[in-house]
Amino acid sequence: MNQAEMTCPKCQGEMESGYLIDHSYASFFVSLWGRGKPKKHWLYTLQGNNAITLPRPSDQIPVGTYRCKTCGFLESYARKEFAVK
Ligand SMILES: [Zn+2]
Repeated sequence: MNQAEMTCPKCQGEMESGYLIDHSYASFFVSLWGRGKPKKHWLYTLQGNNAITLPRPSDQIPVGTYRCKTCGFLESYARKEFAVK
């Protein structure tokens, strides 16, 4: 998708490309879309941990997010092109 084509559906403002940042301790990651429903990891209930089991690679797609420069509206897409390069 060409960023120049992106117009905010809420206010018609200009959208810019970006991504959502996930983190775990001192590491940071691009968000992933996972197919199906999340499954609890065995550590899920330990000390309030909300860990899930990571889906197999074929069921993961990196998420890219566009942000409206005017109103802040976010619109996300799960596509391979959003993988870390
Ligand atoms: Zn907007």
